[in-house]
Amino acid sequence: MSNQIQPIFILPEGSNRTTGKDAQRNNIMAAKAVAESVRTTLGPKGMDKMLVDSMNEVIVTNDGVTILKEMQVEHPAAKMIVEVAKTQEDEVGDGTTTAVILTGELLKNAEKLLDDNFHPTIISKGYRKAAEKSIEILNSMSTKIDGNKEILRNIAITAMTGKGAEIAKEKLSNITVEAILQIFDNNEIDLDLVKIEKKTGESVDNSELIMGIVIDKERVHPGMPKRVENARIALLDAQLEIKNTEIDAKIQITSPDQLDLFLQQEEKILKNMANKVIDSGANVLICQKGIDDLAQHYLAKAGVYAVRRVKKSDMEKIAKATNAKIVNNLKELSSDDLGNAGLVEAKKVGDEEMTYIRECKEAKAVTILIRGGTNHVIDEVERAVKDALGDVSVAIKDNKVLPGAGACEIELAKELRKFAGNLSGREQIAILSFADAVEIIPRTLAENSGFDPIDILTELKAQHASNMNIGINVFTGRPIDSIKEGIIEPLRIKTQAIKSAAEVSELILRIDDVIASGRGNSSPQSGMPHQGMPDM
Ligand code: ADP
Ligand code: MG
Repeated sequence: MSNQIQPIFILPEGSNRTTGKDAQRNNIMAAKAVAESVRTTLGPKGMDKMLVDSMNEVIVTNDGVTILKEMQVEHPAAKMIVEVAKTQEDEVGDGTTTAVILTGELLKNAEKLLDDNFHPTIISKGYRKAAEKSIEILNSMSTKIDGNKEILRNIAITAMTGKGAEIAKEKLSNITVEAILQIFDNNEIDLDLVKIEKKTGESVDNSELIMGIVIDKERVHPGMPKRVENARIALLDAQLEIKNTEIDAKIQITSPDQLDLFLQQEEKILKNMANKVIDSGANVLICQKGIDDLAQHYLAKAGVYAVRRVKKSDMEKIAKATNAKIVNNLKELSSDDLGNAGLVEAKKVGDEEMTYIRECKEAKAVTILIRGGTNHVIDEVERAVKDALGDVSVAIKDNKVLPGAGACEIELAKELRKFAGNLSGREQIAILSFADAVEIIPRTLAENSGFDPIDILTELKAQHASNMNIGINVFTGRPIDSIKEGIIEPLRIKTQAIKSAAEVSELILRIDDVIASGRGNSSPQSGMPHQGMPDM
């Protein structure tokens, strides 16, 4: 009895634990699977995916982060890869597929090293060194743009090529660049000040940039003017109504006279409210709360254009665009608070009336109105335009750009190999693996365009001996000078992708134990936890 070993349970019943190589392999496999799932979408010739959610809503997209978010990945390591895409989206707004594919490839190459009995810490260390060196190399490769509009437009076009927006890329790239330059203020770019409004109908080419704000609201009263030139705009965060939802009051009326008196009183209050607006000199009222019918009537009679229940975020943008002050006490509204716009008009877009506040002098907020045949088209155009807005704004902020079409990755791999040459042993091998991984981008661009990646990569590498800007023409499979062809991307797309890809790869490599609590169902087929792990 005494020499029999008692098993010790340190985890609750039902928990799931994978350790050592199994844990590593499992995580790497999941990460690779995520990367593989978006690989075919990379580049101008990349394919789209159709995603159908539990409500049968359909999304057709080419956008890495959108695909990954919609996939609702559950594996904990796979979730970490999805996070890479989200970080990339937050930091740059584009390059999400690139970041994810790169992470998958780094892990794939790490797996080979693990097979050769490399310790994960050695691989991590090598990867970290390689990533640091990569940032240096990319920086020294980058060129300045100094606000050159032609280059900015090319950056926008590069972002949109192969996406739903491509059909109108000339127009949309112009719109993107003009929008960003318009809101560029004190060296700051706040993308929240570019409002994107969408309406089905017409074609993508009918999309437009409005120097002001478009809101999806109609005039509250048909008797109001449809057009107000030289608009003086009041922004009110207060109601033109009597009912007060916060105080529950009861009024007892005992005779018809009293009722009459009460109604007269009410009318008077509403009339005063309308007069407050009219007396300020405003001919347009944008109200965040409600406007009573009677108040509407008085406003209409005075020729004031009014809309109600406007979103707070729109109120803020209108304030920026028209230089108005948002007033939250009607009694305090004065002419000093009013903003200006050359024109406020009600316009039928599709079958709904929208309000255009346009021709704002020095508008510090603008609207891009996206048109297109169907909701699916418009949504995908919006995603492409957002990528372009992100790229153009970081290109302006950082003033550094790189050649696209795989050029900078080929050059980076070349320089990393040179760097590895000065080191020795296992570290050198890890850095060489990193260099190989970077080439996944041009390789995938070639594959997705239907060309043989080995031929193309060999040719590109040869040409990089003399020109670091050589990338792939995805239409002919021949080498091109990416900078001359205007295939240009901001430096930060690439540095951010490298940083997050390397960090997450390291993180995943260092895990040798996955413990999932028994909460929920664990997935029996993979031996890996499905649920019950904290969100990454
Ligand atoms: P991501 O989500 O990473 O931005 P994309 O599908 O937008 O993925 O593809 C970006 C890649 O496509 C970049 O490597 C970029 O250089 C390349 N690319 C963009 N336009 C062209 C083009 N006209 N010719 C070749 N490659 C291009
Ligand atoms: Mg992109």
